[in-house]
Amino acid sequence: MTFAKLGLESRLLKGVEAMGYTSPTPIQHEAIPRALSGRDVVGCAQTGTGKTAAFILPILQSMSPGKGVKALVVTPTRELALQIEEVARACARFTNHRTAAVFGGVGYEPQKKQLRRGVDLLVATPGRLLDLQGRGDVHLGKLEILVLDEADRMLDMGFWPDVRRIIRLLPEKRQNLLFSATMSPKVLSVIGDTLDDPAEVRIGHTATPVASIEQKIYPVDGVQKGELLVALIKQRSLERVLVFTRTKHRADRVCRTLGRSGIKAAPIHSNRTQAQRQKALDSFKEGKVRVLVATDIVARGIDIENISHVINFDMPGNPEDYIHRIGRTARAGADGTAYSFLASEEADELKAIEGLIKEVIECEDLAGFDYRLRYVPSPTREAKKVLRLAYNGGALSGRGRRRGRGGRRR
Ligand code: AMP
Repeated sequence: MTFAKLGLESRLLKGVEAMGYTSPTPIQHEAIPRALSGRDVVGCAQTGTGKTAAFILPILQSMSPGKGVKALVVTPTRELALQIEEVARACARFTNHRTAAVFGGVGYEPQKKQLRRGVDLLVATPGRLLDLQGRGDVHLGKLEILVLDEADRMLDMGFWPDVRRIIRLLPEKRQNLLFSATMSPKVLSVIGDTLDDPAEVRIGHTATPVASIEQKIYPVDGVQKGELLVALIKQRSLERVLVFTRTKHRADRVCRTLGRSGIKAAPIHSNRTQAQRQKALDSFKEGKVRVLVATDIVARGIDIENISHVINFDMPGNPEDYIHRIGRTARAGADGTAYSFLASEEADELKAIEGLIKEVIECEDLAGFDYRLRYVPSPTREAKKVLRLAYNGGALSGRGRRRGRGGRRR
């Protein structure tokens, strides 16, 4: 299958070729012709599937010429806004379309200047867009296509009232494209309210992690997680690692622990300024930093190529975040590995994740690591039981878990 067969015009095909894409990904294959037909589209796809180009390319083809913002992509985070705009700019390279991204946390002036120069395709986070609109710096009366990206995350982050405000500013006659990694009842109700008889595009089972990701659980006492992380990275010579922690504070602490052990690490979370986050991402991309330590909200959707390992230092509270987290590795067909550290008090989170992915994740011990604190009492009986079983050889649930390596009782 080629991009030309999807009905894209030659200027866009040249852009796609320059980006090095040779054939469309499944979501592009499904979504592009439907969006080009002018219908509303709902795309259920995780980041990493190529969904950005799946909505950007039809937008660039369908927007009418002339002044004014014709297409708007609303997305939850600054990083996503920047990434989407980057893809849009690359796809639009051989067209006359002008793209821009506006997001909070940085000054207004450069964004206002860009808007004054003229923008056809605007990528925005909700708050900043409303601010700019309120100040008269952006006009949405000519809008033809609206994209709601990561709709589930925007709902989770409480952005929906802002998104609704934005929608009220738009002409009623427009095309809507909505993308979401998950289709919760909340997302479905939004679709019902906002979209007009949408074509549905679903790629794979949304609750199944990318099949090429190797997943392992490392049972460990909470206080030994830092030591285990250092030992794991050193012993296996891990080079491009994305670590997830539960809180910003823990992300900073993990960075300090790694730094003390001579492993270069940088945090990315919402207490860091935009410039600090960008610097961390750039250093990682350039290989100056080996480990990025992130919290869920910020890391969601960040497009960093060639992450070899995702390590869940803390289990995610929301099982769907597990899928998003591990989806950061194995992007665009590459293989990846996801390790999750499991403390006794996190047994419930693991249960929820295994329930969602309908898979039992194998346990493993790091050979030679001194698990001296294995039997610290855990808060709940259930958790204790689960951990004891895990430590006894990985038979976590009796659902066919294979024996973990080195999982003998200590
Ligand atoms: P996304 O899901 O949009 O964040 O894209 C994930 C990654 O896949 C990005 O690094 C894209 O540059 C890459 N990608 C998107 N479409 C293609 C394609 N057709 N062929 C190869 N790589 C692609």
